[in-house]
Amino acid sequence: MTKIAKIALRVSLVALAFIIIFALSVFPEDRYSLMRQQMVERDIKGRGIKDPMVLSVMAKVPRHLFIDASYRDQAYGDHPLPIGEGQTISQPYVVALMTESIRLSRDERVLEIGTGSGYQAAVLAEIATEVYSIEIRKNLAEKATKTLADLGYRNVKVKCADGYFGWEERAPFDAIIITAAANHIPPPLIKQLKEGGRLVIPLGNTIYFQTLILATKRKGQLDIEQVCPVAFVPMTGEMQKR
Ligand code: SAH
Repeated sequence: MTKIAKIALRVSLVALAFIIIFALSVFPEDRYSLMRQQMVERDIKGRGIKDPMVLSVMAKVPRHLFIDASYRDQAYGDHPLPIGEGQTISQPYVVALMTESIRLSRDERVLEIGTGSGYQAAVLAEIATEVYSIEIRKNLAEKATKTLADLGYRNVKVKCADGYFGWEERAPFDAIIITAAANHIPPPLIKQLKEGGRLVIPLGNTIYFQTLILATKRKGQLDIEQVCPVAFVPMTGEMQKR
């Protein structure tokens, strides 16, 4: 390569780097989108999630918009983050794992207990036809309702209540996902699950670690499978009285 060609190559590489840096600063959404794709490759696909629908949804839902601006740059890290009131948005891998475990299909209706930021509800809403989500803390329920509406998720209904009792008027559900730690499966949730329906719940000691359980309803009884160890914030309300 001649000296001039070498200089030209260097100049064009520097120019290209400038264009990329400029584009990413002018279009921050592209920067987040890039971080999101990397998260899916590294922490979701890279750790064994295979369902193509779950992978494409995790690459689509803007997780950074479900948390406070001060944490936004950490949104695509492999860990939970604070969402206020001592609560957390779950680690992306755990959201993907729970979603994959309940094997949702397009025409199904799902109930979530523990709306929190609304992120898991949005992930479910990208797959299922109707999502019902219950949050016990009023401020979080209101904030999540607004975030989901701003992002155009019209198939999610959030209500502020104790999720222990489920959502009787909207039952039965094809799947139920509990995103707070429980020491037993609330009987009303078992009742509100359809025959053949799937339920995932972090079950065990509510203060330390739990085992993620996948339960399938067959002939009115639950078939239990253990998925993996997890750590969730405790389910409060009625759960703590029993
Ligand atoms: N799924 C959420 C994270 C859940 S954190 C997300 O994607 O961001 C657990 C949430 O469960 C907290 O917001 C907590 O307030 C809520 N919670 C705890 N006990 C509850 C109960 N009995 N009913 C409904 N929500 C409950």
